[in-house]
Amino acid sequence: MHTNWYCDDINSYQRRETVEVTIGGIPMGGSNPIRVQSMTTVDTMDTEGSIEEVIRMVDSGCEYVRITAPSIKEAENLKNIKEGLKARGYDVPLVADIHFTPNAAEVAAKIVEKVRINPGNYADKKKFDFIEYDDETYQAELERIRERFIPLVEICKEHGTAMRIGTNHGSLSDRILSRYGDTPLGMVESALEFLRICDDLDYHNIVLSMKASNTQVMVQAYRLLVQKMQEEGLKPYPLHLGVTEAGDGEDGRVKSAVGIGTLLEDGLGDTVRVSLTEAPEAEAPVAAALINRYDDRAATADQINTTIDASPKNPFQYERRKTIEVDTFGDHNVPRVIADFSEVENIQMSDLKSIGHHYLPATDKWGMSDHGADFIYTGKAPLPFMSPSGMKNIVDADIWQSNMDTYPLFSVENYFSSANKHNSLNFVRGNINDINEQVIEDLSKDTTVVLWIFSENSHTMPELRAILFKLYAANVGCPVVIERDYKNVTPDELQLYCSTDIGGVLIDGLGDGVFLKPLPSNNKEELLDQLTTSNRLAFGILQAARTRMTKTEYISCPSCGRTLFDLQETTAMIRKRTDHLKGLKIGIMGCIVNGPGEMADADYGYVGSGKGKITLYRGQDVVKRGVPSESAVDELIKIIDGDGNWFESETSEIEA
Ligand code: SF4
Repeated sequence: MHTNWYCDDINSYQRRETVEVTIGGIPMGGSNPIRVQSMTTVDTMDTEGSIEEVIRMVDSGCEYVRITAPSIKEAENLKNIKEGLKARGYDVPLVADIHFTPNAAEVAAKIVEKVRINPGNYADKKKFDFIEYDDETYQAELERIRERFIPLVEICKEHGTAMRIGTNHGSLSDRILSRYGDTPLGMVESALEFLRICDDLDYHNIVLSMKASNTQVMVQAYRLLVQKMQEEGLKPYPLHLGVTEAGDGEDGRVKSAVGIGTLLEDGLGDTVRVSLTEAPEAEAPVAAALINRYDDRAATADQINTTIDASPKNPFQYERRKTIEVDTFGDHNVPRVIADFSEVENIQMSDLKSIGHHYLPATDKWGMSDHGADFIYTGKAPLPFMSPSGMKNIVDADIWQSNMDTYPLFSVENYFSSANKHNSLNFVRGNINDINEQVIEDLSKDTTVVLWIFSENSHTMPELRAILFKLYAANVGCPVVIERDYKNVTPDELQLYCSTDIGGVLIDGLGDGVFLKPLPSNNKEELLDQLTTSNRLAFGILQAARTRMTKTEYISCPSCGRTLFDLQETTAMIRKRTDHLKGLKIGIMGCIVNGPGEMADADYGYVGSGKGKITLYRGQDVVKRGVPSESAVDELIKIIDGDGNWFESETSEIEA
């Protein structure tokens, strides 16, 4: 087996073969469809409210519903919720969510179909201590976990209850952090400590997850888990996929699709939970749209024209592909965004507002927002006015002339035989069949080319990745722009599909630019609206794949029965005041029990710590405790300001 193995075939779609797990009447894994699930947000002690919410979730497509059980009393109340649901004709399998409380888990496991434990806190309290272990003391720790964990495993075996061992990047135990650090390997080991005990006790009704809000870490951890299970000869247990604290709206969907979609493309994943800071019934349709793409994938995909059958780079670690610098592409430059104006007729200066460039007639100057496209492609004619500073114009090679202030776009076929080329920047477009050995050889000698790749294969992401793997393996350093073009998709599908197809390539450090065509329209206003969307999506995908930060990132929890304030309202309020602080990561967490751990690498944190009380964090450190919620956002801004990270928004000036 290749050392970089995590899936049998990176070039053709095939679901990973997993063991079947029994979860009430809806089995998971094996040949079962990929399941959809979500989690309630109302207080678990609110029996009627929980029943109503579960029903709304099931009606929206949830096949399992998770409910938090922070203590024995909530665990016991799961019985009332279950009976209430049964009386209303709903037999959906319920999952108890457990943190810190083995006694609640042991109660819940006798009532519901599945329990989720967090290996970071099932047998450990977080003290943020660094502990030196030798093999003997580490072994003693494992013995202690075993003692704590065995009763739950025995109950699950006796009652036919399933279990998810759900690692969270943000809540690893001090033991794991001390030994493995805050790494994908630490996440995997955290789960394996518990999985080995289950295996030893001959208990196999298990599902695993490796969630993180950092999509790169999340993807690497799932891949590594698959590899390690195989290496240790453990059964191929099903995977529950999710990106934690993804946020809300488009950002939440894009981030979820980048992480979850990347894994689904490689056939990994048996159930999906999309975590949005929205009503829980909004999550299932997003998960379903992500999953449904694979129904006919194997049947419709073309064979990918490549001989590279395993990742030539380490798939468990982020590493940007080494490229030369061509103009502002590649090397240390952030990936670029190219806007497609080739279908826009009679282009006016004001039209460029759709891609973040605002003409200011009063001063005869251009303003640029954080989402100003870097390049504009205008096809058969150049822009009829001078390009805004900060943006360059690409045209088709057959109309390009060297005295134009533009750059040519060639096909692979025409480029190498053309006598008329730009002396420093040429775009060369082709698909996997065009990029043969001769072309790779020619590209290796040309320092003016940015390769522009596209795919018409339904197995798009792997085909685009295969082109980049060809270049990677041949050590060819030309920068690469990724093109995607969608027709006959809804705006919601566009959001998820392009995030998967482009994000899945970027997340592995491949790709130096994005060209996302707008959904087609014959109406100019509508087309400009579509251009706004595709431009925003391009920047959103780059941010979600963590390759170019152009906006504030909100790491907000999806909320659950522990939540101490209205998360949606609060997130919207914080976003309104801070969304111009580009590159800053702000965690917004519903409770102090899990919030600080789960906001992971946020720069600042706003965490519910009591009724109407907020605790504010700088990184993982508490700055102010018990701040009344009415003044907490102002206090947060004061902390950001005190650190020199605050500035006033300039949007209004640009919009003028
Ligand atoms: S951080 Fe949010 S979702 Fe997680 S347990 Fe606390 S309130 Fe629930």
